[in-house]
Amino acid sequence: MAEDAPADPETLTRIYPASEVAIEWRQGLCQHSGNCVKAHARVFNPRRKPWIETEQGTDDEIRAAVARCPSGALRIRELG
Ligand code: SF4
Repeated sequence: MAEDAPADPETLTRIYPASEVAIEWRQGLCQHSGNCVKAHARVFNPRRKPWIETEQGTDDEIRAAVARCPSGALRIRELG
């Protein structure tokens, strides 16, 4: 049955809006490399809920940190 099938890793888990951009989060793709945390530990903190706080960084900082995600778990969505 379909309910036994693993969740599609491409499934969008959550969107975290900033000002000009939003961060798309696909939990099923995360490889736990920690690159996002190393890039910007105030925006990305896995010990906190929510673990992403876009107000802790600028749009440019967020773009740069998301670009370091090797798996596609984090992606930028341009707003507006
Ligand atoms: S950089 Fe991407 S793959 Fe690495 S921990 Fe962050 S979200 Fe997961």
